[in-house]
Amino acid sequence: MFPRMIIDLSKIRRNSEKLVEELNRRGIDMVGVTKLFMGEPLLARAYLESGAKILADSRHENIIRMKTAGIDGPFMIIRIPPLSHIPMLKENVEYYLVSEPEVALRIDEEVRKAKLIYMVDVGDLREGVMYYEAAEEIEKVKRSLKSASIIGVGTNVGCFGGVLPTKENLERIVNVAKAVDAQIISVGGTVYLTSLEKGELPKEINQMRIGEAALLGTDVTGNREIPYLEQGTVILEAEIIELKTKPSVPEGPIGYDSMGRKPVFEDKGKRLRAIIAAGEQDINPDGLIPLDDGAEVIHSSSDHTIVDVTEVQRPLKVGDVLRFRMNYSATLRAMTSPYVEKVWLK
Ligand SMILES: *Cc1c(COP(=O)(O)O)cnc(C)c1O
Repeated sequence: MFPRMIIDLSKIRRNSEKLVEELNRRGIDMVGVTKLFMGEPLLARAYLESGAKILADSRHENIIRMKTAGIDGPFMIIRIPPLSHIPMLKENVEYYLVSEPEVALRIDEEVRKAKLIYMVDVGDLREGVMYYEAAEEIEKVKRSLKSASIIGVGTNVGCFGGVLPTKENLERIVNVAKAVDAQIISVGGTVYLTSLEKGELPKEINQMRIGEAALLGTDVTGNREIPYLEQGTVILEAEIIELKTKPSVPEGPIGYDSMGRKPVFEDKGKRLRAIIAAGEQDINPDGLIPLDDGAEVIHSSSDHTIVDVTEVQRPLKVGDVLRFRMNYSATLRAMTSPYVEKVWLK
């Protein structure tokens, strides 16, 4: 049945092994991030077998899924836990990323000997206490803890503001770590590999939280394929339900599409257009890279995606399958769509 995604676990395992090797050589532990694949136990095992020290996820449901499958972790929750989730986490999670005194204190009350990593915002403007206020806030929280301990400080760039790691923002986290005497400096995600490769990562940094690089071999923030890793780990297969030659620009006045966007089309005359049975509910069309040379994804609505196949050399017919590589956002949506079958190649 289609659509389905084919996930090549052997490629992911090799990526993870390579990353662990590169990181360990520089004294850095790898934290394997499972959230993109919803805490899939096969992936968790592959991370651990390749030498990742900790498994991390943003959702307690995914961590519980791994635990139920017999995976012992240790686990890190990498989204600041909502207060209402702490009861679900306390039996399952060893490491907690925090950024609010209230959250740290509640974990301290409810969880025995929790290990906290206090998040510091070095400029990306997602989670974390601003770096210039961090030492003071962290010291204050430390003094109030009874059972939990702040074992480290952490930071995240790339994911929200698209901020790249720089000498300056790396120095910021190292300075906070020194000021509060933190043993662990945890950075993520994948975009920090560029600092490692350029030799710009301060030697004090000893933990890296990695998902995308292992899972897709790419770095969306740095806009690159990582040359020493494998791509094409995740392939979407979708079936053609209509194949017709039509004009490339719609006829009539243009309003907004089903997603509330104003679509813009380039006039290329009449083109051979395939409709595949997968849409915005299953994938992000901007993140599909056709494996057929010459094919071009044009646009999607909820359940349909139009692909210009005029230049494709092989003969196509209704019922044939088009294949695509997927970027982070397309993979994320397909993984969480119940309509996309998942096939794991071990
Ligand atoms: C998602 C996430 C990561 C992993 O990021 P990738 O870019 O997928 O490697 C690391 N840390 C935190 C806090 C995250 O939310």
